[in-house]
Amino acid sequence: MVAGGAGFVGAHLCQRLVHDGHEVICIDNFQTGRMCNIVHLLDDENFTCVSHDIVDPLPDLGQVDEIYNLACAASPKKYQVDPIHTFKTNVFGALNLLELALQHDATILQSSTSEVYGDPEITPQAETYRGNVNTMGPRSCYDEGKRAVETLFYDFHHARGAKTRVARIFNTYGPGMCPQDGRVISNFVTQALSGVPVTVYGDGSQTRSFCFVSDLVEGLMALMACEDAPVQAYNLGNPGEFTVREVAQHIIETLGSKSEVAYLDLPVDDPRQRCPDISRAKADLNWAPKVSLADGLRMTVPYFAGQLQRPAARLLV
Ligand code: NAD
Ligand code: UDP
Repeated sequence: MVAGGAGFVGAHLCQRLVHDGHEVICIDNFQTGRMCNIVHLLDDENFTCVSHDIVDPLPDLGQVDEIYNLACAASPKKYQVDPIHTFKTNVFGALNLLELALQHDATILQSSTSEVYGDPEITPQAETYRGNVNTMGPRSCYDEGKRAVETLFYDFHHARGAKTRVARIFNTYGPGMCPQDGRVISNFVTQALSGVPVTVYGDGSQTRSFCFVSDLVEGLMALMACEDAPVQAYNLGNPGEFTVREVAQHIIETLGSKSEVAYLDLPVDDPRQRCPDISRAKADLNWAPKVSLADGLRMTVPYFAGQLQRPAARLLV
């Protein structure tokens, strides 16, 4: 089962699992998921898509052996539209999936996030760092929701024997992102392709580390498969660290775009830096990302160019 399987990462994971011969049930409320991400899988007898909100009691979908919980809007612009629902998705949704996992003796993997480190005081961020998170702000529904889920996973494992995995995912990009998603790579590439100003928030000196989606999918599957891994969180991300201004300049230059950079207000609580320490994933999962930002962008730009050819009303479908 892939909860959030019609979203950006979830659809890549569904595709890979079906390709590897697994039977996959995608469960998604299509809040940010798009049918176009999974439409090519619908004719496959090993793929089922169920439209359902994981906050609500789950329907009986038969035996499941592995559950990947990727359900939750990841873009700040999207998860802040209904922050209470975002928090409920994280906590109530995860509770429903954890109960399902226990019922079926399935292994369950939670997609947590680098946002559990908040605005970090140390860099790079190792899993042992406990974070610097605002409990009362526009990002809190997401950051604190994910922190609460990690606690639920810890307690379901220790108190009730659930087979749990927790991945702390850093910024991930690639084909399949919704062009109107609002995240930095989708915004910058679509703006540069359209020749409109590239919107850098703040002075652009904040940093992010960008992981190409195929690397992340490898990492998630390696974590799910790792039966010997101690029950703890794993950072999954690419340690290459760039300022947002560098990313804007790189995209404008490599696309030969006429776009200029427009500096806009920095959103509240925007973290200053992000860089994963991935020693734990390297040691325990034998995993490390392979795709550089430059190569990943080369594989992503044609996708966004194609999306911009679609009628505007169909971009969200
Ligand atoms: P996305 O917004 O593209 O996909 C999320 C999917 O979850 C969508 O299909 C959405 O419709 C679905 N969903 C949301 N709430 C739901 C609910 N209550 N019930 C059922 N389905 C629901 O995001 P993504 O980039 O694919 O991220 C996937 C997961 O990875 C998320 O949990 C996110 O928090 C985590 N993550 C992603 C990144 C990243 O950079 N992409 C970074 C850190 C963590
Ligand atoms: N950002 C930006 N311009 C945009 C979109 C985002 O400068 O059009 C910045 C944002 O303020 C943040 C970084 O890029 O510092 C990454 O933002 P994103 O929304 O992709 O994810 P976050 O890491 O903040 O969750």
